[in-house]
Amino acid sequence: MATERTLTIIKPDAVAAGHIGDIIKILEASQFKIVAARLVSLSKKEAEGFYAVHRDKPFFQSLTNFMSSGRALAMVLEGENIIARLREVMGSTNPANAAPGTIRKLYATNIERNAVHGSDSSENAKSEIHFFFKPNEIFQRV
Ligand code: UDP
Ligand code: MG
Repeated sequence: MATERTLTIIKPDAVAAGHIGDIIKILEASQFKIVAARLVSLSKKEAEGFYAVHRDKPFFQSLTNFMSSGRALAMVLEGENIIARLREVMGSTNPANAAPGTIRKLYATNIERNAVHGSDSSENAKSEIHFFFKPNEIFQRV
């Protein structure tokens, strides 16, 4: 299994609640390597672009209002099988179904305000990383 990269976002609910440090602590304890990070404040249009795949879902307007409601921390993580490993550490989309100890079980409020984003496939990871970061903003081992 080759080294992969994935995109994670600490969403506006978790940033506003003061959980940036708590969540990064879990990511680092999981041996995930942070290779880029940027505090962002998405416009409604940017949030709609990021979540375009969900544009026909009933929750799209509410989700993109939420995602453009305040500060969020976008990060690129790198490691073996990191896409799947991040999804495990995040827990289920709905925190009611999330396993104990997962980020969403600990810090999500509900299925929308669920603390973190994580890419769900190699293809989406690439495009989501590109959405937030230029290649020279991502740490490269030389
Ligand atoms: N979401 C929502 N209502 C739903 C399902 C999802 O508000 O019924 C939101 C939630 O913030 C979720 C995001 O939309 O994280 C993207 O949904 P997806 O199914 O891709 O979940 P994820 O990949 O984030 O677990
Ligand atoms: Mg998703």
